Amino acid sequence: MSLNIALSKGRILKQTLPVLEQAGFELAEHPDESRKLLIPVKNTDINVIIVRATDAPTYVRLGAADLGLVGKDVLMETGGSDLYELYDTGMARCRLALAELVDSAKSESHLPAKIKVATKYENIARDYFARKGIQSEIIKLYGSMELAPHAGLCHRIIDLVDTGGTLKANSLVEKETICHISARLVANKVSYKLKRAELVPLVDSLKQAFEHAE
Ligand code: AMP
Repeated sequence: MSLNIALSKGRILKQTLPVLEQAGFELAEHPDESRKLLIPVKNTDINVIIVRATDAPTYVRLGAADLGLVGKDVLMETGGSDLYELYDTGMARCRLALAELVDSAKSESHLPAKIKVATKYENIARDYFARKGIQSEIIKLYGSMELAPHAGLCHRIIDLVDTGGTLKANSLVEKETICHISARLVANKVSYKLKRAELVPLVDSLKQAFEHAE
């Protein structure tokens, strides 16, 4: 029985592929050198499917992929309860943070009762402000969040931060870390039951590969 593993494009693909290769999962073609998005793993019945990070949970949830390597940010935003989160790979670590302009951070008085916050993560942002009892208007953006407060679109942003270099380069400071993020190994719930004999050993060898990589 063949198995599909969804790999999120970007940092997750970049960081996990060398670990998978070291563990003996050799792809028939390297994603950097091929435009193919479904790539067999040599000498196995496994295919790797290269997908947009935000689409990865959909592939796994609907069973097009049995397993996936998905960012915790994407899982939280899409409400990942309809998949099994099996393992924290520790790869693509970063944090989701609330940030604002350096100048605004010097005084709170600039803030209206309802603050405007730009983010890709509308659901996480709504939950976060609701928990804090802070009134907010969430503005959905698809990229370049760091620009939004400078252009007067919002008071604050919620975005992924790794080294903090991007915030600093754009005169922003981190106000609060909302949560820590890393790539998680997830499974389709039906596959995990019906293909258990194939999936359990594969999941074990993936876990071992990531443990050794840390
Ligand atoms: P940095 O300048 O190192 O703090 O990185 C911040 C920039 O990289 C922002 O544009 C983030 O959206 C992006 N970023 C940081 N970590 C990740 C990650 N693990 N996955 C995807 N994007 C990330």
